[in-house]
Amino acid sequence: MSGTPMLEVRNLTKHFKAGRGQVVHAVDNVSFTLEKGRTLGLVGESGCGKSSCARTVIRIYDPTDGTILLDGQDISHMSQRELKPLRRKMQMIFQDPYASLNARMTVRDIIAEPLLAHGIVKRKDQANELVYPMLERVGLTKEHANRYAHEFSGGQRQRVGIARALILQPDLVICDEPISALDVSIQAQVINLLKDFQEEKGVSYLFIAHDLSMVRYVSDDVGVMYLGQLVEVCESGEIYRDPLHPYTKGLLGSIPIADPKLARTKEKSSIEGDIPSPIAPPSGCRFHTRCPYAKPACAERAPEMKDVGGGHLVACHLYE
Ligand code: SF4
Repeated sequence: MSGTPMLEVRNLTKHFKAGRGQVVHAVDNVSFTLEKGRTLGLVGESGCGKSSCARTVIRIYDPTDGTILLDGQDISHMSQRELKPLRRKMQMIFQDPYASLNARMTVRDIIAEPLLAHGIVKRKDQANELVYPMLERVGLTKEHANRYAHEFSGGQRQRVGIARALILQPDLVICDEPISALDVSIQAQVINLLKDFQEEKGVSYLFIAHDLSMVRYVSDDVGVMYLGQLVEVCESGEIYRDPLHPYTKGLLGSIPIADPKLARTKEKSSIEGDIPSPIAPPSGCRFHTRCPYAKPACAERAPEMKDVGGGHLVACHLYE
């Protein structure tokens, strides 16, 4: 990982207040770099903080602490007004395309909306010459422009969501589980569409997913999150060849392996129990309550993220 950074996140922390003086530790001290034209997959179980992290990065949420640099510019503490011109550079594709598309707007108006909001066109009818080619680009047609979201299949709705995000030609797109709600047969089409855009425009993706199989074909680098913290980061092929953190091994253990020979050689490993509450995360290494390798020191001292060689980062006492 040595290109030009599109996004640099340093010690990002996001806590939410949760009644009776309690605090939800959604994101704690997370650092990573996403280079221009590359994809970083952020993976972990539900409740691990990956979506909160993504939404804080794009400033839907204000960070509690830490720094977010977008193309070298510090956006961590900008007001929404200061952020407005930068919103053109960073867009988001949501998990549930149905919930994220306005049911009362036609597809044309949904895709044209960001063009009008950013003053790229002055009137709706001027937007057509950008909207129609974009519809075709995502595999829809001009004839779809006057229809409403409920008239489309899940895959088509996600194409509309992608068109809306990409019409502004952003440099960074946060993809928040964009294929989880789609049929398996449609998932590959959406992934290929995103990859084609990346090749053409050099866009960078932060791709959120709940299991490693989903980011396998889309990510150049992968970060694994557990209970609000990053526990392992490395180049994508490496995480499948040589996973180090016990949690990553557990996540991989739950991916079915098509090759029976390879399946026999893989360490049988799965994660027992439920993810603890982010209101009271365990002391020391947060994974110690579920880790088959835990020693007494793991409950006392949090492991630091270390480079074990070639940019492979892991936070675990086994590698100190
Ligand atoms: Fe397991 Fe200890 Fe490593 Fe945490 S630090 S993952 S508990 S071995």
